[in-house]
Amino acid sequence: MKHLLMGTAAIALLAGCTPKTSAPADGDKVALTETTPPTANADGKFETSEGLLLSAPDYWGSWGIDLSVQDTNVAPGNNFYAWTNGKWLDSFVIPSDRSRYGSFDLLAEKSEQRVRKIIDDLAADQPAIDTPEGKIGAYYNAYLDTDAINAAGLAPAQPYIDRINAVQSLDDLAVLFAAPGFSAPVSGFVFADDKDPDTNIFQMRIGGLGLPDRDYYLKTDDKSVELRAKYLDLLTFMLDQAGYEDAASEAQKVLDLETEIAKSDWDRALARNPDITYNKVSKDDLIAMAGDFPLVRTLDTMGIGGETEFLVAEVPPTEAELEAAGISAEDATKLGGGFPAMFQIASDTPLDTWKAYLTAHFLSDFASVLPKDIDDANFAFYGTALRGQPEQRERWKRAVQATQGTLGEAIGKVFVERYFPPENKAEMDDLVVNLRKAMAANLEDLGWMSEATKVKAEAKLDAFTPKIGYPDEFETYDTLVVGNSALDNAIASQKWQTEDNLADLGQPVDRTRWFMTPQTINAYYNPSFNEIVFPAAILQPPFFNISADPAVNYGAIGGVIGHEMGHGFDDQGAKYNGQGVLTNWWTEEDLAAFRQLGDALAKQYSAYCPLDDGETCVNGRLTLGENIGDLGGLSLAYRAYQMSLDGKEAPVIDGLTGDQRFFMSWAQVWRSKYREEATRQQMLSDPHSPPVFRVNGVVRNLDEWYEAFDIQPGDALYLPPEERIRIW
Ligand SMILES: [Zn+2]
Repeated sequence: MKHLLMGTAAIALLAGCTPKTSAPADGDKVALTETTPPTANADGKFETSEGLLLSAPDYWGSWGIDLSVQDTNVAPGNNFYAWTNGKWLDSFVIPSDRSRYGSFDLLAEKSEQRVRKIIDDLAADQPAIDTPEGKIGAYYNAYLDTDAINAAGLAPAQPYIDRINAVQSLDDLAVLFAAPGFSAPVSGFVFADDKDPDTNIFQMRIGGLGLPDRDYYLKTDDKSVELRAKYLDLLTFMLDQAGYEDAASEAQKVLDLETEIAKSDWDRALARNPDITYNKVSKDDLIAMAGDFPLVRTLDTMGIGGETEFLVAEVPPTEAELEAAGISAEDATKLGGGFPAMFQIASDTPLDTWKAYLTAHFLSDFASVLPKDIDDANFAFYGTALRGQPEQRERWKRAVQATQGTLGEAIGKVFVERYFPPENKAEMDDLVVNLRKAMAANLEDLGWMSEATKVKAEAKLDAFTPKIGYPDEFETYDTLVVGNSALDNAIASQKWQTEDNLADLGQPVDRTRWFMTPQTINAYYNPSFNEIVFPAAILQPPFFNISADPAVNYGAIGGVIGHEMGHGFDDQGAKYNGQGVLTNWWTEEDLAAFRQLGDALAKQYSAYCPLDDGETCVNGRLTLGENIGDLGGLSLAYRAYQMSLDGKEAPVIDGLTGDQRFFMSWAQVWRSKYREEATRQQMLSDPHSPPVFRVNGVVRNLDEWYEAFDIQPGDALYLPPEERIRIW
């Protein structure tokens, strides 16, 4: 059963960031002494004073915004995103080993190179293999050693393929579904019970699809048909590699099986709703739901057969439950048959098809540590066909990523020692305090919410826990076994993560735990802990800079803090109270008003159609939580910025007012370019809107933006005041 590290627990900010200057790059505080943008070296890269080579300059002007990329030929009211970033958007060429590039990716490039340095330094001391440092070096080196991987051929994979081929019964299959490394139509993880967040419980959902979402199997447009054909080619190739004589026909059966699983699965936008995905079932009921499939064997193999209760996401809701969850009859048709249907499929499918499925998935899942032709074929589909990325990333970059995926906190411990100045944390603490004050003030002013609900909302706000930088204690990976086989290491990593997670059953919920490493360029809100979390690596320019103009910091990291707080009050997050309990704390009228505001915002975003001549649009429902986070977040950050001025006028800098700089800063952090395929995939499977709408779609709802830039009727982004949506 595939283990999901974060489960539904955390809602992230992003799916998923200079030529040598005369000034020393002391951490991240210095870029601002430069007044002219740097130039690229002969390879088109920008070298930082720290010696990092980046695909775009780590340059943010003299006070925090790079004005050299502004396109003042565009009116801010027609396209604010392009007005702020236009020259960069017009001229930047996405690196061939990327499917997208922007501010987040620039920082990710920095983190990646710093982590490589950390790994090299740790390995240089030749640490013992049973220490975290020794494991990091061994994991990294085994992954890097493509000569050894190619020379070994499929021999390292053979014991796993033999296990698949040894399956002779549904019982055997059920056991294999529980084993690390093997695919399964169900995923599971231990996490806090949404309605009892002090107790850990095993949670399950439908999984095991090779394509990123059920829609990829069900849609009939040309692009979807073409992608499925390419996926079928990939399955055929993998089975051929594994020695199947009838690879093509077996691959078709695997695709048919996955299509049936996809039909049993639920629409991604509807599955965001805990009103229908929170289903506590007894072990007996779970076993009954599995019908003829011996799920008890899977549970026993995982060591969780003694559990008496489980949470299951896809249990078909009753009519009454649908109505209570506000799901229309039309939408309800997008909910497949869920667990009972999926297990029925599992029981009815011939074992030979399951074996082909397991074999093809195994080779694909571990392609990065298998011989080059398998790796290349996998990349041609998942990298190029799905995301439009022309070239595979260099091996060391992938090795860094893989090593971080396994031993991320041990690396993070060193990362924060080297790259996270303690004063950043103090400064962030202040910003968070100010954002909370702004939210409290905004709540006071809300016209659409009753006093009774406001009191509850304030209580939730008071109970927010911020986490900044890094965890108090870092994981030590004591029981992780690393050796010199890259494949065995990858499977050992899965095994360790599953066992580490399962060990939480029966233990008190550990609220100090982090679900991102410090070197990650992202942030998250976790509704069960009612916490907002900001890893160290996002606390750099252009998001955060101690020496930048305050308007810039409020418009960037302030907006990010506000975004994460906003998740506590988005269409789903607002269903959890301050203690992280999934429970309705709203009056009926307020809930209706809130839903209406959400409906209106969803409608706005569904009208943004960037692909196929306006035929392919943002899914306003899938992205609603993120869009509420953005809209609420920027509005909170604006208020916090005003409060920080304490009644004084902000200075005008380079002809720009404080308010103008604030909004430009938000536009700057979302500066990015995507390949068309990457945008397409994001719109189908990611709850975040494409970056241009995270800017233009938000600012056009804020009166303060209209005032700051004198936006008038006739400007493309103009909305009449009564159509502007303000939720928080
Ligand atoms: Zn978010």
